[in-house]
Amino acid sequence: MQHQLVWFRNDLRVRDNQALSQAVASKQAVLAVYLACPQQWQSHDLAPIQADLIERRLATLQQQLAELNIPLLVVHCPDFASVPQCFLQLAQQYHIGAVHFQQQYELNEQRRDQAVQQSLSQQGLEVFSYHGDCILPPASVLTKTAQVFKVFTPFRKAWLGQLDDACFSPLAAPAAVLASLVPDSFKPLLAQPEPVKLDYPTQDSSAWLCDEHQVIQCLRDFSAAKAESYQQLRDFPAEAGTSKLSAYLALGIISPRQCLARLYHDHPQVLESQQGGAFVWLSEIVWREFYRHLIAAYPQLCKGRAFLEWTERVSWQHDEQLLQAWQQGKTGYPIVDAAMRQLAETGWMHNRLRMIVASFLSKDLLIDWHHGERWFMQHLIDGDFASNNGGWQWAASTGTDAQPYFRIFNPTTQGERFDPSGEFVRHWLPELSEVPGKKVHQAHTWAEKHAVHLAYPKPIVDHAKQRKLALSLFEQAKANYGAVEPLS
Ligand code: FAD
Repeated sequence: MQHQLVWFRNDLRVRDNQALSQAVASKQAVLAVYLACPQQWQSHDLAPIQADLIERRLATLQQQLAELNIPLLVVHCPDFASVPQCFLQLAQQYHIGAVHFQQQYELNEQRRDQAVQQSLSQQGLEVFSYHGDCILPPASVLTKTAQVFKVFTPFRKAWLGQLDDACFSPLAAPAAVLASLVPDSFKPLLAQPEPVKLDYPTQDSSAWLCDEHQVIQCLRDFSAAKAESYQQLRDFPAEAGTSKLSAYLALGIISPRQCLARLYHDHPQVLESQQGGAFVWLSEIVWREFYRHLIAAYPQLCKGRAFLEWTERVSWQHDEQLLQAWQQGKTGYPIVDAAMRQLAETGWMHNRLRMIVASFLSKDLLIDWHHGERWFMQHLIDGDFASNNGGWQWAASTGTDAQPYFRIFNPTTQGERFDPSGEFVRHWLPELSEVPGKKVHQAHTWAEKHAVHLAYPKPIVDHAKQRKLALSLFEQAKANYGAVEPLS
């Protein structure tokens, strides 16, 4: 008798999981597998805090699946190259006839999956893949001339126009596999599962949830109570105005389709009115999809290439000391430093702050954005290649539909505008606790006036000077390149 195998990856949930549901629908025994690939993860800069959340989540998923009579094995494969062999062994050992998984869109992951598909098919196994990480899969939302959208607003319009009933109907958790179908070889795995260990450095993630019910409850609470005010509050880091669901979406503890369905349930007018907080929040989910569609269509993005080729000619001015000051939150620009310390301590950073610190690294410190992209992946609880690369290329003006290079954030006025009471900065920079109100954003000016000594660095660069330099570096790059064409 042959069995079904579900390969869990960034879809660590039992609800709205097509791979799991289809495997169970076969009415055969089902084995679940998660592959720990520490060497590969190291090269992808997986953050220890995210690894910890994955480990904790797998332990709870193992219990959930056991209740469905499905054992979850965590199998160690050093890197993606060893994955096909690993599957062949599993298939043989557990009499697997079919493998189910949900697609990932990054280049290395796609290549890994193709290799697995090929080697398993050669052995006569069936391989089924599904799209669960996007509401509308890559390549399904195209321009009238069948091109990939490179600009967000028309993408969103087309995306909204293509939503059908299935997009609002997440799958329920599957029913348990009949106990009579569970083979003897699975029984010890169910009775005494191996403790989940990833063999990867970890950093405590216990401030984040790993229980699927609780995460769904967060989505429900946000949708019911906070989505309406999202538009007003989302840019203010001192307010709890955003959903903080990104880590759960990155690991797939919830799906984007569950987000859409819940939002629509609570705000049935959202698609018609196309305005208000709920619609603005939905647009962020669409940004997530947009970046996924882009990396699937332009695999060069996964190889460190800028979307706008001409921006690869920018002569970044690397300075290790400046980079370290940025990483450690010691630039002398309070909003930047508070944000970087929030990241280091919690693994998360507010979106407005991600834009500010990314702009500061690339346009004020003139450091190649790839260093920031990497630092973020190494520290974020929600590290996600497509959104992170998209966000960095947006802020560094190297991406498609990015911030134009001549629009450069002033970190002081951004702080004054988005942390008007200075509450956020004072929370993360205790050395500025005495500086009142929004004066905290120009702390040294205040301190000089009041003859107070601050144990806080002076600004490491002069914004006005660096701004001019950034403009000239971009203009030179453009002139050197000649044409402004995206990668083809
Ligand atoms: P909400 O505001 O509640 O938004 C809901 C969901 O929409 C988020 O959970 C997220 O999944 C998605 N989303 C929101 N904004 C964006 C966006 N701009 N682009 C893509 N998806 C979005 N997001 C990540 O999930 N992982 C990353 O590694 C990441 N790196 C970023 C790097 C930079 C430089 C920038 C500017 C943005 C980055 N983002 C990233 C996007 C965004 O900052 C986070 O998704 C958001 O701050 C998460 O908080 P939230 O869950 O409260 O979001």
